[in-house]
Amino acid sequence: MLLAVCVLVACARKVQYLQAENIIYEEAEPTPEQNAGIDICKESDNYAPDARYPEHTPMRYVRINIHFITSDEGERNFSGVQAKQFAEKMVRSANYKLKVNDEMVLPVGNDTPKLPVRYRYVLTGKEGVPGDDGIYVHRDSELMLFNKKGKPHHSSEKAQYDTYGVRKQEVLNIFMLEHHPDSIASPTYKPSSDGIGMKYWVKMAGAFYKYQRQIQKGKDDPFSATAGRMAGLLNHEIGHSMGLRHTWNSDDGCDDTPKNGNCWKGATCSNNMMDYNATHGAITPCQLGRMEYNWSKERSSQRKLLDPVWCERNPEQSIRIQSGQIVTWESAKDLNGDLIIEKGGTLAIKCLVSMPAGSYIKVMSGGKLILDGCTITNRCGDEWAGIITPVKRKQARGQVIYRNDPSLDRVANMVGGSKRAR
Ligand SMILES: [Zn+2]
Repeated sequence: MLLAVCVLVACARKVQYLQAENIIYEEAEPTPEQNAGIDICKESDNYAPDARYPEHTPMRYVRINIHFITSDEGERNFSGVQAKQFAEKMVRSANYKLKVNDEMVLPVGNDTPKLPVRYRYVLTGKEGVPGDDGIYVHRDSELMLFNKKGKPHHSSEKAQYDTYGVRKQEVLNIFMLEHHPDSIASPTYKPSSDGIGMKYWVKMAGAFYKYQRQIQKGKDDPFSATAGRMAGLLNHEIGHSMGLRHTWNSDDGCDDTPKNGNCWKGATCSNNMMDYNATHGAITPCQLGRMEYNWSKERSSQRKLLDPVWCERNPEQSIRIQSGQIVTWESAKDLNGDLIIEKGGTLAIKCLVSMPAGSYIKVMSGGKLILDGCTITNRCGDEWAGIITPVKRKQARGQVIYRNDPSLDRVANMVGGSKRAR
């Protein structure tokens, strides 16, 4: 035991944290953005994942739960094992669509990049409740109803969230509802798969009805087909919750999502997630940037819904800037592991970076780290370890360059402070 402690202390002593005298201060000419008064860290386009370095946009996990509301007798929606299987299938299928991210169909002949999508959904139950998988069934003949045409049971009513919401404002509550049988019987009401996505809750209607219809029509594997179709709608509605708007009919603020006829299926129909179509398969760089920006904002509703994986250091998710790579980060990031700048690599950081508790930034000999007006901190109320610049024998120390007054907050080993790890 004693020996182990001694070994640990000896190791700690060897860690070479950055010293004040080794910092290189550089004057920087104002950039065109600075001259124009633009804060690049608030430009959502800068938040789109970089296709060359997907891991530089650490994966976000949106916490969701799924409620099936059925009739008092329990026969008008999925329930029991079937509800669990449907929810799991739908979520798996939705995550798969995100992973694939189809190329945009519109505008015809476009060259919109297809970027890696760095978010997924994770079914989340109540904390400390064994067996709670975040999938619930309620019997409530009133609140099971969804009416897209007005009162009562209007789609925008939040009675379901008020009554059955779980872990409100921490987990996105998804309600699986059905159209009223009288509405379905009416020739002017189309019982299509509809939904609505608000900040903390989503409603989707018509899954069970669609499933029944598929069975009646003798379709192959109606269960999977319905779950797959609802997965596209789930992505659409959660897109709203994450701050995206429809693209076909209004200005959604993105140049890469053209207005369109919003047709369902065909060579010239949109396949964008935020239109109504058969696939909901494509998400553009601008749309990804908007969501990533919302997730980065300290007090946004979108950030509250994330699993805060960036609070706990996961060395397997360390980011390495390798030889020959010259990288600039112009967006805020929440890292899940350490950050290592290897020999021949250069990283310039211009916005906020959150380091997990106990993690470090290491600048190897021959590596260069430029801290350009940025803030490096821990966004979970803990401390990160500090910047290490190891030197072996006669190698030159890795360069750490300060420009535009960067600040290092919540750091255990302050610049110029003790060499010893605490
Ligand atoms: Zn919509």
